[in-house]
Amino acid sequence: MTKRILLAVLGLLLLLAAAVAVNTMRQGSRQVTVAPAPPLALDTAAVADKLAGAIRFQTVPSQDDPAFNAGEFRKLHAFLEQRFPLVHAKLQREFVGGLSLLYTWKGSDGGARPVMLMAHHDVAPIAPGTEGKWEVPPFSGQVKDGYVWGRGAWDDKGNLVAQLEAIELLLASGFQPRQTVYVFSGADEEVAGQRGAKQAVKLLQERKVRLDFVIDEGLVLTEGVIPGLAAPAALVGVAEKGYTSIQLKVSAPPGHSSMPPPAGTTAVGQLTTALRRLEQEQFPAELKGVARELFGTLAPEMHGLQRVALSNLWLFGPLVESQLAKGASTSAMMRTTTAVTIVNAGNKENVIPGVAEATVNFRILPGDTRASVMRHVRSKVGEGFELKEWPGSVDPTPVTPTDSHAYRVLERTLRSLFPDTIVAPGLYIAGSDSQHFVPIADNIFRFSPVRARPEDLPRLHGTNERISVANLGELVRFYHQLLRNLNAPAP
Ligand SMILES: [Zn+2]
Repeated sequence: MTKRILLAVLGLLLLLAAAVAVNTMRQGSRQVTVAPAPPLALDTAAVADKLAGAIRFQTVPSQDDPAFNAGEFRKLHAFLEQRFPLVHAKLQREFVGGLSLLYTWKGSDGGARPVMLMAHHDVAPIAPGTEGKWEVPPFSGQVKDGYVWGRGAWDDKGNLVAQLEAIELLLASGFQPRQTVYVFSGADEEVAGQRGAKQAVKLLQERKVRLDFVIDEGLVLTEGVIPGLAAPAALVGVAEKGYTSIQLKVSAPPGHSSMPPPAGTTAVGQLTTALRRLEQEQFPAELKGVARELFGTLAPEMHGLQRVALSNLWLFGPLVESQLAKGASTSAMMRTTTAVTIVNAGNKENVIPGVAEATVNFRILPGDTRASVMRHVRSKVGEGFELKEWPGSVDPTPVTPTDSHAYRVLERTLRSLFPDTIVAPGLYIAGSDSQHFVPIADNIFRFSPVRARPEDLPRLHGTNERISVANLGELVRFYHQLLRNLNAPAP
């Protein structure tokens, strides 16, 4: 009898294992195969020299003062004019909101929706006290050991120089775009883009412009960042998470600390309970939406257990979700995150305070909203709390569909230039100027093929920011080929 049960169990296990194996093998690669892009004669040393020159202007913006460092911005504009003569002769250049740049390259087909390349030219400041940790001074603009070093090399002057270089080359070859091509370069992206991107959108709305797509900074070409994936990955950001901070305030009778009321009833006690609930009963981490499409695209390219598990979510779904939820970066792709950032109460060591306050920051997953986050907080903390949303809150952006013509052109361009790289949609967790373009763009992509390994990630807004000269050449080829592919008939 026991033997028969054992055999039955064994048989069932074998069947399950067979189903898992078949499913794993059946999930073929979703990567498109395309012919390699034609070679492009490119003087990468000359491009590196242009980027180094652009880095020397200290274009650090100020949130409140539009004239801050204006001289540096204007010198950079003059430098670009001198180094990209064809761009400035053939394209229209307009100043938006004072210091941001909008270039227009008229297309031959007035009925075709225009496209927009974006790359801001303001930069993040150098954290005080870290200047000495740079291998080369951050605004010296040096090319050394195969890299262009300095603030803005990666974020985001590298992309701007590459876009202008690609257009300069296309103009020199007599290329005429079918769709009108805009280049927008914000001068205040690092301080939220209210003067630049926001005004540019207003201007284009007045002109009744509707864009086919926008491509801006965001995710990059990562190597060794995704566990189980040996190949480099080009994750194309198809949505941006939303952002909100909520202040919680609770009051209770103040008193002397020699006769405290029952535990949990003081303002601090109630706040502590509320914060613990918010941390422990967070939004669930689920493999859905962009995260599901991302891991579904990566699964067939992975090795070992990761591939088996991701190819068999019908069986391993809960296990995979709990594993991914443990990593901070994968968890952030799967849920609206909760982070307590400010706590305030009390000012005397022997007085029980009558008021306690805290602020909790949420990064909102597409599917949730500012309003649903507010409802969530209310349901966890109860009616006794005053809740207030901080200024600067935004809903998540819509998700750009991956079955659009624009996505396909982008995907094919990447595969023709980086044939070993896996292209997949991803979720951008930070913010970019492109968020302002939601009202006027059909598709928004937050991606550039800047190569980054895990050890490079702290260079962004950090110390020793740099881009390799070879990679800068790849950026030029990417924008050059993307614009050429747009002129080709739809595949
Ligand atoms: Zn940036």
